[in-house]
Amino acid sequence: MKAVVFERHGGPEVLQYQDLPEPRPGPNEVVIQVKASACNFNDIWARRGLPGMKIILPHISGSDAAGAVVEVGSEVKKVRVGDEVVVHCGLSCRQCYYCAHGDEYFCPDFKIWGFQTGPLDGSHAQYCKVPALNTLAKPKQLSFEEAASMPLVLVTAWRMLVTRAQIKAGDFVVVWGAAGGLGVMAVQVARLFNARAIAVASSEEKLELARRLGAEFTVNRKKQDILQEVRRITEGKRADIVFEHIGAETWPVSLQCLKWGGTLVTCGATSGFEATTDIRLLWNKQQNYLGSHLGNKGELIDAMRFVERGLIKPVVDRVMPLKDLARAQQLMESNEVQGKIAIVPA
Ligand SMILES: [Zn+2]
Repeated sequence: MKAVVFERHGGPEVLQYQDLPEPRPGPNEVVIQVKASACNFNDIWARRGLPGMKIILPHISGSDAAGAVVEVGSEVKKVRVGDEVVVHCGLSCRQCYYCAHGDEYFCPDFKIWGFQTGPLDGSHAQYCKVPALNTLAKPKQLSFEEAASMPLVLVTAWRMLVTRAQIKAGDFVVVWGAAGGLGVMAVQVARLFNARAIAVASSEEKLELARRLGAEFTVNRKKQDILQEVRRITEGKRADIVFEHIGAETWPVSLQCLKWGGTLVTCGATSGFEATTDIRLLWNKQQNYLGSHLGNKGELIDAMRFVERGLIKPVVDRVMPLKDLARAQQLMESNEVQGKIAIVPA
């Protein structure tokens, strides 16, 4: 099969389009013919290498896939050859204390498939294998490209806003990177709950996308003062929730944009991990700073119900062939993508 592999860390030039043997399923696994995969930032972090984290080499990235099951392991009962599926990328033991409580991301064996797995175990290939438990039925009305673009960003945004921040009707929600993969999901989840998204992005085109997805307010971060705009929109109260994933660059502004008693929820820090916090905000304003990491399969199932009803829609910027994965990653690194890039093997 064809796959995109890297054997050492570096820029997009380390990605090689190669022939590899097709994966075979273990007893509880299925092999999927990948009809589409999707690009996520963790693909880029793995390629560059992350301090303190071992990426198993040689590596196939890709944590999102949609395709057809072509082979099932001997113990697999509920997934059949021919089923059209998407993948939930959180792998865990399903038996430990945390897994028993549905907190699979706390499992000592927790791994994000296609990021922390390997060697050669991700979706940017013609075939991939995953535990049968990690498959979900592909929503019928979606193309494979659309379906592949959703699970990782959808479950992440859902857990951040619904489970962690407990979003409710009327909440003002500042969404950083509102036209990015995570942002387009956050804006739609906010609309679903009748909350009022304040979409922040770097161009008019991106803000127009956010408005189409249901953002009530938009702020151009290149042209407008974000704090001033948030104060104006909220009549001085500031935001109930800030949806953070940028980190060092945005953290101080995020804290300033938050109302007394408000909730900041974060799932990442693409611009850097170190930021300063004025602790007075924490006690005096009684703000909540919450972390969130991916989500459990149950949260993805809950969110997908709204995808099936057309209330949350995929946003595919473009579809690119697998052999051009390096180019796709360059587009992501230069912030030129709206929503997601889907990758097709053939
Ligand atoms: Zn576990």
